[in-house]
Amino acid sequence: MTTFTDLGLIPDLQNALDTLGFEKPTPVQEKSLNVLLHQTTDLVALAQTGTGKTAAFGLPLLQQLDSNKRYIQGLILAPTRELCLQIGREMEKYAAQMPQLKITAVFGGANIDTQAKTLKKGVHILVATPGRLQDLMRRRLVKLNQLEVCVLDEADEMLNMGFFEEVKAILRHTPEDKSTWLFSATMPKEIRKMANELMHDPVEIAVGEKNIAAKGIHHELYETTSRNRYATLKRLVDIEPQIFGCVFCRTKRETQKIAERLIEDGYQAAALHGDLSQNQRELVMASFRNRNLQLLVATDVAARGIDVDSITHVIHYQLPDEPEVYTHRSGRTGRAGKKGKSLIIATSSDRGKCSRIEKRNQIRLEKKTIPGQAAVGRAHLSQWIDSFQQVDSNPSLEAYYQQALEGLDHLSKEDIIRQLVSQQLSRFAEKREHFDLNETSSEKSKSTPKKNKDGLRFQINVGERDDYNWGAVKDLVVGLTQIDINDIYHVDTYRNYSLFTAAPEYQEQIFAAFNDLMIDNRSIQVSLSTSKKGKKPSGNIQSFRKKYKKRR
Ligand code: ADP
Ligand code: MG
Repeated sequence: MTTFTDLGLIPDLQNALDTLGFEKPTPVQEKSLNVLLHQTTDLVALAQTGTGKTAAFGLPLLQQLDSNKRYIQGLILAPTRELCLQIGREMEKYAAQMPQLKITAVFGGANIDTQAKTLKKGVHILVATPGRLQDLMRRRLVKLNQLEVCVLDEADEMLNMGFFEEVKAILRHTPEDKSTWLFSATMPKEIRKMANELMHDPVEIAVGEKNIAAKGIHHELYETTSRNRYATLKRLVDIEPQIFGCVFCRTKRETQKIAERLIEDGYQAAALHGDLSQNQRELVMASFRNRNLQLLVATDVAARGIDVDSITHVIHYQLPDEPEVYTHRSGRTGRAGKKGKSLIIATSSDRGKCSRIEKRNQIRLEKKTIPGQAAVGRAHLSQWIDSFQQVDSNPSLEAYYQQALEGLDHLSKEDIIRQLVSQQLSRFAEKREHFDLNETSSEKSKSTPKKNKDGLRFQINVGERDDYNWGAVKDLVVGLTQIDINDIYHVDTYRNYSLFTAAPEYQEQIFAAFNDLMIDNRSIQVSLSTSKKGKKPSGNIQSFRKKYKKRR
């Protein structure tokens, strides 16, 4: 067995890992330490969620820093504040025996003056979201001119969230000869491009391409209709009385809505998404960690910070567009060698996505029948019988037993059991949702999404001149707002501006997302369009694309 010490780790760090119970390096740690502990180089590392990437960059970074030099030597960029906090906490643990070393996490939403104060005291390793870091740099509170290592963690997610330009801008303020280490769970073309642009001759390591297949996760597919999606979710939850799970939705709005419905229906559930304040998010995460919640309903982005080990089920309330996102979601279960289930609620129009997920991840989605209400009742009953038998009778309650004995004396054992069962299963006796939820062809709804004719026309001040085509505009809006991609439509780009349509209910969300938005040091603004031209039906996309190409 190779140990961390075998790979060249210093005793201070090895000791800290012993305390943490890290017995041996994970594959990505082994490969990464093999390179980074012994040479100064750029690195691209591909490894899925839960494979131990934090230590893979954190340990080499800690080992090479000099706490006598009082400036920022290591910078870790991560896409969300949850991740920054998590990385910061994890790094503190590795550095437990290096008390002189200062690690600080900075991110939006927290008080910038407090962060400024901490920074002034001197920091060796800074963990940051790109937005807040740029703010701090503009105020000259952070200097990166002596940076030695820059880590881009969850690089794919930073790209998805549109942080590439910010990252580039930040790196322009760092020394040419620093090392850049990029860590990512997936390797889309854009990451390649990012690596080419930001690094010199990086060493590349990759592990566990297929690890979700290998990882004790069972993937199950439940096909229903859009109308029955929520009822299906409840069935799937009800059939597993012990569930401790994460439900993924695609938009913040839906996440909130589903969580609220679950709570109304008596489940211990909560929503986790970007519209919550940091404080709220931390509270939600804490109650989930402590098992005060049974179901966490989350958006993909918010879920990036979930570091809870014993999640039994991941439920895809709706499938993501990208097969890679499916991988990320599913990776929340089956951690630390445990078994897990990934349940997909799909409609017939999701079949293409399902087969792409199977191909990309080399896994099989087992098609299952949505359990009927009777099966759900039986599952609850057997769970109740088990726990009933484990109740210890309590001698101090003897007086009460006597009273109960006398009061129930006229009932037979059978009567008593019947009463107890009725009490336990009352919610399954109600008439609601007894029907079969499985999609049958007769029930199939024609599922072309209805475009709201009363949509509002929005205008943004970027266009073809800025290299935005309709796809880029759509990506920008969807990325910023988390609105379903199908709800942003009729995108038209012109030289200096672009137009798109969305339902009026999204107006607030769209305006909020563009509030104070800077891309490439330019303020990007949205307004309601008054242009008549904008109303024209944009024709089919193909012809628009042709037109667009010609013009360039
Ligand atoms: P990733 O960033 O790849 O998603 P993390 O760095 O968050 O993964 O690690 C996932 C979990 O595994 C964390 O709880 C971490 O403490 C634990 N872990 C990391 N390395 C080891 C190891 N060598 N041995 C045991 N546990 C580890
Ligand atoms: Mg990580």
